[in-house]
Amino acid sequence: MSAPVVRFAPSPTGRIHIGNARTALLNYLFAARAGGRFILRFDDTDAVRSTEEFARSIEVDLAWLGMRPHQTVRQSDRLQLYVAAAEKLKAVGRLYPAYETQAELDRRRKLKQARGLPPVYDRAALALTEDDRARLETEGRKPHWRFKLDQRIVEWTDGVRGASHIDCASLSDPVLMREDGTFLYTLTSVVDDIDLGVTDVIRGEDHVSNTAVQIQIFEALAGEGRAPKFAHHNLLVDATGGGLSKRTGSLSIASLRESGVEALAVAALAVLTGTSDEVHAVSSLVELAQMFDLAHISRNSAKFDPAELRTLTQRTLHKLDFESVRDRLAAHDIVGVHAEAFWLAVRGNLETFQDVVAWRRVVDGEVAPVIEDAELCRTAATLMPPEPWDETTWGDWTNAVKGATGRKGRGLFHPLRLALTGRENGPELAKLLPLIGRARSVQRLAG
Ligand code: GLU
Repeated sequence: MSAPVVRFAPSPTGRIHIGNARTALLNYLFAARAGGRFILRFDDTDAVRSTEEFARSIEVDLAWLGMRPHQTVRQSDRLQLYVAAAEKLKAVGRLYPAYETQAELDRRRKLKQARGLPPVYDRAALALTEDDRARLETEGRKPHWRFKLDQRIVEWTDGVRGASHIDCASLSDPVLMREDGTFLYTLTSVVDDIDLGVTDVIRGEDHVSNTAVQIQIFEALAGEGRAPKFAHHNLLVDATGGGLSKRTGSLSIASLRESGVEALAVAALAVLTGTSDEVHAVSSLVELAQMFDLAHISRNSAKFDPAELRTLTQRTLHKLDFESVRDRLAAHDIVGVHAEAFWLAVRGNLETFQDVVAWRRVVDGEVAPVIEDAELCRTAATLMPPEPWDETTWGDWTNAVKGATGRKGRGLFHPLRLALTGRENGPELAKLLPLIGRARSVQRLAG
């Protein structure tokens, strides 16, 4: 089997939220697992609402989540392809001009509904003669163009939903080109998927209803059996069952990033919610890709709790190795031979990555030591062994203090922690002490 080609196709008309990230990640992981290609396609034919700024923000958000597209295309650069496809469909009699105004269509639809008939376009335009069309055009009407559906049942095996079908006899012939010559997504998406060699269309189940029509367009343009595979995933809904909109600001990827949530926590929640796999922290997208399977996605809606991002963020941080955070630590000036030891000491105590700044201060900055037991601290200072120190130093030293003072347990450790760090709790002192070092420790024990 050749490697899959998938695409994530947002319209750059807003910032992406965690639900859009789900679609992007499902595509990305599907490709990653099989060594395939992940294409970013901006569906920006709506020139009024699409902006360069939104396109840029989507790229930034995907990069933050760890997804680098192999290729990025914009529909606005590809108009010639759509024009050519429309010509081809016209030539084979599958795209026909219709002249009804919206008001006329609305009136006919209401009449049908009143008679209890399905509100499907009656194909009146197919009966127009050459002369009729000429007359309508001299009246100043411009046609929109409809795809002539084969009125048959279209079947496909959906990667998530299994055997699926739609009866196209119950659908109106879809408009593919407007009066002003602009194209609708229904066509442009298919043209691009053919041109870019997309093998698998993985998208939200809000697109199931487009699938039969698009399969027919694929076949009209590329030939029988040439449609890609389709998989429609469930959509994320909040605790109340409500859907997410692009305008749901608080769940935008940008605002999650700014709130200090870890990208891998967002990815794990976005991908694992609504699947047969339990939501849990992961240490890389590779780990997510390894267990990824479209068949694990449930057909029920994917109810998720954004509050889980806090605990997932902590659990993610606890799992990250030094290599995966080296650059982020360096951005906080945490570099050099002790950076790794520092990370391994503090990662288990971080609520957000930003907390490294405070722990860095505890290690080598100013702290306000809290002296709970001056006598103990004084004795402890005199018993500090000479450097070099390592992770055994804390045990040896506190044993010596225990021997000299008879203190043990909390009565021994708590005053030492308060003096050395100024805090009630924190990372293991066995790991922290060598980083704080002897000079600073002696100073802090003196208050
Ligand atoms: N631009 C469409 C959307 O954002 C793409 C749908 C598709 O993947 O085909 O919903």
